[in-house]
Amino acid sequence: MGEFELIRQYFAAASCARTGAGVVLGIGDDCALLNPPSGNLVAVSTDTLVAGVHFPEVCDPALLGQRALGVSASDLAAMGASPLGFTLAISLPQAEADWLQRFAAGLNQMAEQCALPLIGGDTTCGPLSLTLSVLGHVPPHQALQRSGACVGDLLCVSGPLGDGGGALPLVLNRSLGDSEAERYLLARYWAPQPQLGLGVALRGRATAALDISDGLLADCGHIAAASQVCLVIDQEQIPYSEALQRIYRPEQALQYALSGGDDYQLAFTLPPAQLPVLQAEGWPIQAIGWVEVGQGVQLQTATGHRITPAVRGYDHFERGS
Ligand code: ADP
Ligand code: MG
Repeated sequence: MGEFELIRQYFAAASCARTGAGVVLGIGDDCALLNPPSGNLVAVSTDTLVAGVHFPEVCDPALLGQRALGVSASDLAAMGASPLGFTLAISLPQAEADWLQRFAAGLNQMAEQCALPLIGGDTTCGPLSLTLSVLGHVPPHQALQRSGACVGDLLCVSGPLGDGGGALPLVLNRSLGDSEAERYLLARYWAPQPQLGLGVALRGRATAALDISDGLLADCGHIAAASQVCLVIDQEQIPYSEALQRIYRPEQALQYALSGGDDYQLAFTLPPAQLPVLQAEGWPIQAIGWVEVGQGVQLQTATGHRITPAVRGYDHFERGS
């Protein structure tokens, strides 16, 4: 199978590769042509996933396809952007039909779920790695940046935390899950659910937002730094899934929520009056803290003490140095 046949069969022929509202010209020419709603800003984000670094060398290609796009699309949600399209640059050791078919199926499933058309990419031979760029559109002045948190805002999250971190030991052991709770965590890891609808609902309401990829502490630290405020997290209000609580002790679940990463929930700051409005609209969001004068992230423990936790997000170039 040659490069062009591969692109045609597995990517150009996928149902998510169709043109539509925002895509005037998709796969097949030198560039795709996009037509975002008049006056909107275009939001762009790129993520690379390398085999052996971001995912196990041996894994289910359908799950890999799903996860790769889910993780990328989460950045659009965090910006309050509506989906426009995405590109896929894939480097593959060999063109194996079964692997490609399953990978494309998983990718296509997430693309359909996110309403994100595949608009182009690049296909090369080499060690397995994926680079996805997602594009979205957002009205001027309504993008959810990290820099707008105000003293007095609430700190909120879009759902349970710690599932991604709790799933990682299972992923690394190549477990398929021995219980319903384990299978739930694995599904949360392999098919992150980008909060695109909520992102749009937060436009003009949230003062700052991001998606939690590195763990609550590290990511809240980004909002605190960009907004020049202090974010206080009330440990008692952090939400957990039933599955996480079934498998791990409370201290371990807390560690996963704070530092595990891979949750892809949104964390955002909100004027207090907005919380009941959004909840009445049906968004399952929850306040877990607030914004104060100061800097960094503080944790209020169960006993009411304040601690300044050491934040250690993942840094690709810090290992061993
Ligand atoms: P060029 O040589 O002009 O860069 P390519 O031969 O790389 O074009 O790609 C041909 C067409 O197929 C382009 O429209 C490109 O965007 C698309 N394409 C290539 N690889 C992929 C892929 N993995 N997924 C989706 N589209 C792809
Ligand atoms: Mg090319």
